[in-house]
Amino acid sequence: MPESSSPGGVDLHTHTNCSDGVFSPSEVVRAALDAGLEAVAITDHDTLAGIDEARHAALDAPIELVVGVELSARIHNRELHILGLFVDQTNLDLVTLGKAQRDNRRDRAERIVARAQALRIELSMAAIDRCAAGAPIGRPHVARALVAAAVVPNQEQAFKQYLGIGRPLGVPKQLPDYRHAIETIHRAGGVAVVAHAGSSRIRNKLLLDLAAAGIDGIEIRHPQHGRNREIRLSDAARRLELLRSGGSDFHGPGRGNSTIGSCRVPMLWCEKLRQRSNRHRAENDCTERPL
Ligand code: AMP
Ligand code: ZN
Ligand code: FE
Ligand code: FE
Repeated sequence: MPESSSPGGVDLHTHTNCSDGVFSPSEVVRAALDAGLEAVAITDHDTLAGIDEARHAALDAPIELVVGVELSARIHNRELHILGLFVDQTNLDLVTLGKAQRDNRRDRAERIVARAQALRIELSMAAIDRCAAGAPIGRPHVARALVAAAVVPNQEQAFKQYLGIGRPLGVPKQLPDYRHAIETIHRAGGVAVVAHAGSSRIRNKLLLDLAAAGIDGIEIRHPQHGRNREIRLSDAARRLELLRSGGSDFHGPGRGNSTIGSCRVPMLWCEKLRQRSNRHRAENDCTERPL
């Protein structure tokens, strides 16, 4: 039986409706339980708002909650995503970076609306806010607003026609430097993992730069990675002495979305990431303790 379809295992990449997912944090934990997972990480974009509810849902259930976050960052003028796993959700540096990014997301949404209005496309901040319901505004929320206004028939079309890179409403957001994102995750006692490393067209040179900046791991297993990509990334992880991670990047049910647990990884991978996180925590304690 292939590793990914065996029972148990861990899903280290999921989203809730506290960012651009569909399920509430409790529903994600419930779905993870139903999928037979031993642990699930909630990794919302730029927020830890779903953690408390998820932790509560996992209490007394045979599943472990891994506290996570997905940060967008800039590396050599392109965007890449970095997962922070086993982070301290109360860490001030992390909370501050998340807040700055949520503000940047709002600025981008305002620029998207300005462009849409110039192009006479029906879109307003009020409509986007209705879709985001207080979550950090992502392009999927804008896509949902475009669907609600019947500008496009579905979200996929919204990305294809308007929101994708190089499309009329494909406005980039302000991003922190990748080194700052990695450092912040470390200061919060977490491990930094480069997300969907294959789909971001991460080349070897970028992986080298990420490794030099202290990245801890590579998400080698992801719905957008074929078997060959996973093997190549696994080789790179071995070469660069980086840990392996993986997950479904679950955003909820729906066409084109992966199901929770579909890219599960062995508990051993999770344990190695946890050990590394404990090391970061010990290092932080040392540097913060007065001599
Ligand atoms: P943002 O971080 O706001 O720029 O939006 C990125 C998010 O949009 C990703 O995490 C995905 O959830 C979603 N996304 C990106 N490309 C597409 C696409 N072609 N179709 C549907 N969702 C997409
Ligand atoms: Zn997303
Ligand atoms: Fe991502
Ligand atoms: Fe994601």
